[in-house]
Amino acid sequence: MRRGRFAPTPSGRLHIGNARTALLAWLQMRAAGGEFVLRLEDIDKPRCRPAFAELMIRDLRWLGLDWDEGPDIGGPYAPYVQSEREEEYDRLFGRLERDGLLYACTCSRAELAAIASAPHGLASEGPAYPGTCRHRTPEEQAARAAVKTPSYRFALPDRPVFFRDAVAGEQHFPAGSGGDFVVKRADGVYAYQLAVVADDAAMRITDVLRGSDLLDSTPRQLLLYEALGLAAPAFAHIPLLYGPDGRRLAKRDDAVMLVSLRENGVPPERVVGWLAYWSGLIERPEPVRPAELVAGFSPDRIPKEPIVVSEEALRHLTSR
Ligand code: GLU
Repeated sequence: MRRGRFAPTPSGRLHIGNARTALLAWLQMRAAGGEFVLRLEDIDKPRCRPAFAELMIRDLRWLGLDWDEGPDIGGPYAPYVQSEREEEYDRLFGRLERDGLLYACTCSRAELAAIASAPHGLASEGPAYPGTCRHRTPEEQAARAAVKTPSYRFALPDRPVFFRDAVAGEQHFPAGSGGDFVVKRADGVYAYQLAVVADDAAMRITDVLRGSDLLDSTPRQLLLYEALGLAAPAFAHIPLLYGPDGRRLAKRDDAVMLVSLRENGVPPERVVGWLAYWSGLIERPEPVRPAELVAGFSPDRIPKEPIVVSEEALRHLTSR
């Protein structure tokens, strides 16, 4: 049985770019006769709000999506909320530690903040961590750890990572790409990279379809699957939507929020029509329901280039 998921972080409202990811992940499973899971990735709790989680569920249902398992309906792999799954992260962390695959890092906080809290891949993290603490002597490390609580990093093996992405094609990441990454922050919070692998494995996810901002997180996740002896899912990374100004859609762009569209009386079929059009699934941006797209879905139809949402499209999309 194929199993897919949509795994938003409830730190803001969903915009049409997020909705497109959800729609395509849903279609991929519905077209394959598989199961679809909704999971809330609120591991970095201070950034998240229960109100955003509730809103996300309402927005997704308004669009016409459904799920077989999720925080609101439960399921065999519950809970579907990361902040309630810490025991599982503890367990996998313990295994990595026992196998000698982690090391304590006492580098400065500013340096860590950029790396640990960004769920958005290497590109947004700045320079790769150079492995400073990996090369300290045990005595030096013990002395430093006595004055500063360490974070824990996964020591990258010295070999490249290859994989085939169902949308982005063949991928090759040279050995050491991005540097040794944090799996547990100094404040005790597990990093996205570990939590997402733990959850996708525990929930028996076979297919991950998500935004291409996470493409370069994938080699890290594949190394964790391998280190933990877990089966990795197949990946499909879809190009992002950009606004008329050429910038990535963001949680602060009001007009493109699902909640704004919903509250302004825009029919959900119109939104889905545009999302399907931007995904190469229909010829014209005409109103359509998600269920009507199932038969014609194929990841091969999804364009490989980023999509720019024109002023005209935005005007039509948001008009009453
Ligand atoms: N929670 C992540 C986000 O909101 C997505 C994680 C994933 O799909 O792997 O960007």
